[in-house]
Amino acid sequence: MPLKIHLTLKSSNQKTGEIPVSTSSADTCPPSCPLRRCGCYALSGPVFLHWRAVSEGRRGSDWGEFCSQVAALPEGQLWRHNQAGDLPGANGVIDKKLVCQLVEANRGRRGFTYTHYPMTKRNAAVVAHANEHGFTVNLSANNLTHADELADLDVGPVVTLVPEGSPSRTVTPAGRKVILCPAQDSVAISCASCGICARHHRGFVVAFKPHGTQRRQANSIAEA
Ligand code: SF4
Repeated sequence: MPLKIHLTLKSSNQKTGEIPVSTSSADTCPPSCPLRRCGCYALSGPVFLHWRAVSEGRRGSDWGEFCSQVAALPEGQLWRHNQAGDLPGANGVIDKKLVCQLVEANRGRRGFTYTHYPMTKRNAAVVAHANEHGFTVNLSANNLTHADELADLDVGPVVTLVPEGSPSRTVTPAGRKVILCPAQDSVAISCASCGICARHHRGFVVAFKPHGTQRRQANSIAEA
């Protein structure tokens, strides 16, 4: 199945708020992601139904058309790439050419996303390039120790899973500040009003507690 991407111009996802939000077909998720088969919040609810339609090719466009849509967003627009899915790539290798195309399309906009790709030297260089050129790619960690490992690479900001019941502020084993995503504690906050994940140089790790029907599996990954 060829890569498919869908861009919703005004999301109805309560967590993101009414900003443009994209969804990438499930084959973009790298094989090494521990949430790929179970534990991912996007494997349930309305997001899953939409994601399945994109993954089966019933919704969405090709990468070129998607980049044209991004380039047509208003200057300064905050938008979230991938409420589900990951960066384009295959067999754990990020597709540099396609990501560079998106980085160009995003110029002047405030796009942000997350990646679970393994941070090999090659993947890390693509992520660093995106972050240096205004498209924020957060490295997704599975737990606080992993968050330190990813932060040590110094190629982009880091987000991490934390176990259910974690406090809203904590630190990693190496002493890095960790702040819980504020939308998890308040329905009044969404990405549209927060925008922390779009900040490349933010100086702290953003944490997410497991949510959705697969949270038990995600919790065991966060506790590992
Ligand atoms: S920290 Fe802010 S921008 Fe990041 S996911 Fe939570 S609400 Fe959205």
